[in-house]
Amino acid sequence: MSVQSSTAPASAPSPVGLGMPQVPRTRRSREEVEAAAPVAGAKRVLLAAPRGYCAGVDRAVVAVEKALEHHAAPVYVRKEIVHNRHVVDTLTERGVVFVDELDEVPEGALTVFSAHGVSPAVVAEAADRNLQTIDATCPLVTKVHREAVRFAKQEKQILLIGHTGHEEVEGTYGEAPEHTTVINDVAEARAVQVEDPGNLIWLSQTTLSVDETLEIVSVLRERFPNLQDPPSDDICYATSNRQAAIKTISPECDLVIVVGSANSSNSVRLKEVAEEYGATRAERVDYANQVDESWFEGVATVGLSSGASVPEVLVQDVLALLADYGYAQVDEVVTAEEDIMFSLPKELRAQLKRVGDEGRALGGRRRPQG
Ligand code: SF4
Repeated sequence: MSVQSSTAPASAPSPVGLGMPQVPRTRRSREEVEAAAPVAGAKRVLLAAPRGYCAGVDRAVVAVEKALEHHAAPVYVRKEIVHNRHVVDTLTERGVVFVDELDEVPEGALTVFSAHGVSPAVVAEAADRNLQTIDATCPLVTKVHREAVRFAKQEKQILLIGHTGHEEVEGTYGEAPEHTTVINDVAEARAVQVEDPGNLIWLSQTTLSVDETLEIVSVLRERFPNLQDPPSDDICYATSNRQAAIKTISPECDLVIVVGSANSSNSVRLKEVAEEYGATRAERVDYANQVDESWFEGVATVGLSSGASVPEVLVQDVLALLADYGYAQVDEVVTAEEDIMFSLPKELRAQLKRVGDEGRALGGRRRPQG
């Protein structure tokens, strides 16, 4: 873990802000920060890192931006491209039409599948309607889909740990519905009935609580000792890293603010993890203007983080607000460095190549230098 210290911005940056977290500019050792820790009553912010945009979200948002650049609006997106109010509203203003189902899209129109993935039935429906599609499913979600297909072919029963109704779970379940049972929580793990206890594997949604998933797996393994593990972690690096960072800061925080939308699984998990790991209080907000002044009563240390679908500009807005309330000292606590980037969806890459726009073929944005 390392810590950087700075002063919060005096005003919010540009309102668009679909961007990766800013790269820290200065570093201090943990000992230096502890030595400089505020005495009673002094106000500071512990800013968690990593936070905000992951590689899969960045790729999906860039894919929609590129689609808008090279096609006449409207560009249709099935479901929210990522679960963030600001991203959806900003892209809507730019000409994107978000739909719940494909029957709302005119025949032949350009349609982007969201980062959460779709089932084969949705892909087939798009083909039936002659839609031009760009599949912005995160590669780490696609990996889980492939696992589901592979283990279904081996006639295994898949116990898919995840939340019923979440788009990602619908997509993964749809790969092998006859072989898959969704497990929402510990109670369902205790109750699930299986056909052959010796032929089971568990998989999971990518954005779950690491601790809760381990607890569910432990209950399942107690009941079914031969339960097979997935070949590699299904909970993704971004979810794990953001939870690890918030676990580190929470014990020192009187208040933790998580920026993220209510339907963002990983953002909601961050708030829960903050509460479990010792924050006196944790709140989730979409925007700085939802922060309530009453939360600051008696608060010396505020923790701040954001979900994997949250543009950094929204965090900077909260930092500016905190500075107004006297929390101007900001110590960024870095528990992991991330440099993962994914290539843009292949349909888009081919198109960008044709028009000579390959500048962002990797799908990642340039991180600010400094
Ligand atoms: S949270 Fe994880 S699985 Fe979801 S888009 Fe980001 S990297 Fe991909």
